[in-house]
Amino acid sequence: MSHDVNRGFGAASSAELPADIVHVGIVGAGQMGSGIAHVCALAGLPVTLVDVKQEALSKSLTTIERNMGRQVNRSVISSDDRDAALTRIATSTDYAAFGNADLVIEAATEKEDIKRAIFKTMISHLKPACLLASNTSSISITRLGASTDRPEKFIGMHFMNPVPVMKLVEVIRGIATDEPTFQSIQALARKLNKTTAVSEDFPAFIVNRILVPMINEAVYALYEGVGSVSAIDTSMKLGANHPMGPLELGDFIGLDTCLSIMQVLYEGLSDSKYRPCPLLVKYVEAGWLGRKSGRGFYDYTQSPPRPTR
Ligand code: NAD
Repeated sequence: MSHDVNRGFGAASSAELPADIVHVGIVGAGQMGSGIAHVCALAGLPVTLVDVKQEALSKSLTTIERNMGRQVNRSVISSDDRDAALTRIATSTDYAAFGNADLVIEAATEKEDIKRAIFKTMISHLKPACLLASNTSSISITRLGASTDRPEKFIGMHFMNPVPVMKLVEVIRGIATDEPTFQSIQALARKLNKTTAVSEDFPAFIVNRILVPMINEAVYALYEGVGSVSAIDTSMKLGANHPMGPLELGDFIGLDTCLSIMQVLYEGLSDSKYRPCPLLVKYVEAGWLGRKSGRGFYDYTQSPPRPTR
């Protein structure tokens, strides 16, 4: 009698087996897209990075090279590893470059209309078997997946910033995501030396459901005059043992991203406790987006960065 379970009743057919991910496409060459390209290339995977802006692609390559250089200096990787990884990264402003991709990870600006438009334009260039993941911090995976031709191959793969350093990847299944897609993404995360935590598809998932309201509360404390920028950040660093203060962390994440996440929580959970602080809104309207724009709750043109309030 055969004990080959793969041939047994109800076993997965080959079409249902998890796909092996070799070639990775990434949309958005900002902080996160650059970090994801960095770890994929170091893991030996060919990467194609696409952005609407050529200058974002050039900046991204410089950032990846600099960050890998730091890893060489700290003996985390060898200079041969770095050189080989850099040759695996191709860039383009055209989605046709994703023709060979086994997985495309979307890491563009945290706006649902932008992400939907990206998927709509990109899909005609993908292989039918290509998996799709979004690195969204907060937007419904079920809703984004439904806007594509392959909701069963669509999943949330939420990396943390900075990607080369942070161990966690949150994995979020949409209602239609199939098991082989989930297993392929888990296998990829292992290959990238990351640990996964599975979150249900609720606004902002686990990490940002807890973290970003804390940052928003810190902005309220500043807005109401409870403390200065330094007092608030020092309090949480020395009083709660956080490695970064909440305002410094907001600047690091990007205040536009923090605001978008609060809006998703506020609208998605219909609870006033998630209302974005008006001061956070004002900073974003001013273009003071944090580290990436040179100014947020700190002025990054000064060394060390100087609190702006
Ligand atoms: P970012 O502002 O640094 O980069 C976004 C990039 O997307 C930019 O280079 C922009 O040119 C590009 N882009 C915009 N529209 C595009 C389009 N139509 N096609 C292609 N590229 C386009 O933002 P980020 O911090 O890298 O965040 C990207 C995503 O990752 C967001 O969904 C965000 O919520 C998520 N995320 C961010 C963090 C964080 O700490 N910053 C952490 C985890 C997840």
